[in-house]
Amino acid sequence: MAALPPGSIVGILGGGQLGRMLALAAARLGLKCHIYAPEADSPAFQVTPFRTLAAYEDRTALEGFAGAVDVITYEFENVPCEAVEFLEGLKPVRPGSTALRVAQDRLLEKQMARKLGAATAQFAAVDTFGDLEKAASEIGLPAVLKTRRFGYDGKGQITIRAAAAAERSYEPFRNKPSILEGFVEFRMEVSVVAARGLDGSFVAFDVVENEHRNHILNRSLVPAGISPSAEFEAIEIAKKILADLDYVGVLAVEYFVTGTAGREKLLVNEIAPRVHNSGHWTMDACVVSQFEQHIRAVAGWPLGDPYRHSDVVMTNLLGDDAEAWAALAAEPGAAIHLYGKAEARRGRKMGHVNRLSPRQA
Ligand code: AMP
Repeated sequence: MAALPPGSIVGILGGGQLGRMLALAAARLGLKCHIYAPEADSPAFQVTPFRTLAAYEDRTALEGFAGAVDVITYEFENVPCEAVEFLEGLKPVRPGSTALRVAQDRLLEKQMARKLGAATAQFAAVDTFGDLEKAASEIGLPAVLKTRRFGYDGKGQITIRAAAAAERSYEPFRNKPSILEGFVEFRMEVSVVAARGLDGSFVAFDVVENEHRNHILNRSLVPAGISPSAEFEAIEIAKKILADLDYVGVLAVEYFVTGTAGREKLLVNEIAPRVHNSGHWTMDACVVSQFEQHIRAVAGWPLGDPYRHSDVVMTNLLGDDAEAWAALAAEPGAAIHLYGKAEARRGRKMGHVNRLSPRQA
């Protein structure tokens, strides 16, 4: 299929900051975005007049949305698969429901990584307390119990350190399909943000080192402090995942890094079938950002140059952090991005700042 020309309309399911930044990137290319979201105060609604405010279960609204756009994408992975499958019968959806189904389920995600020859933490499916006892004795403690679905930023997971605590820890997980993972004593967490075009072409941004605080991403540093061979391997794994899913768009793969410098071992932790918080640095440090890259891919355009011209540290502005906007705006070498959210709840992602410095290597 030919590339969608400027003036075409990209439909985005989800109205958070990722949808907002996708719409801004699309506008720069002369493309329009239509946001579909169930929350009236969605940050993405502020940047485009084309919108549908409706639930993901509303088939009439979904049909109207499909009729109003040229291609459809999504900005978060908890969009119901059923909605995406329904839309696939009406308009091209990129990436489609296959990637969504895998990424929504931590068990399928890890099984896919293993199938492609990538390492992961040890894991076992947990559907009953008996499964948990068996998995804990096989994997050993400490271990991390996570719901297979709907977990993010540390929600839906608990670290079990002693067998005596297992029963109480299991309580909130009862009747929720879950997974037990071996606790990884990682040296570092890294991620790869990569894109695959409609023609199967592949590009990756440089590997990112991620620091979390209270399970929420705090800072992303580029370049990451890992060896060139580990960088290469991280990108190769991402390439295999994108090809296996016949993916179109941007996807992020998160890894735990163990081992020593120069002899790192990478374990796939999670994949996100969308633009990702650990790719926000690309907005100011690369020729083409992750948001533009995603829009290019879903619109069938050639992928852009992911070249990084600067070293960069991205810091999330969570909750009250964004109150320092005036000082951040005055800081040399810093690019501030605010998401237009009215209420600064604790831990809420309100914006981010990219601090640039000349590229060293
Ligand atoms: P996740 O939602 O799986 O990305 O987990 C959120 C964060 O919890 C990760 O970025 C890690 O810092 C930590 N974490 C998750 N799983 C494990 C694990 N198996 N071992 C050690 N730390 C983990």
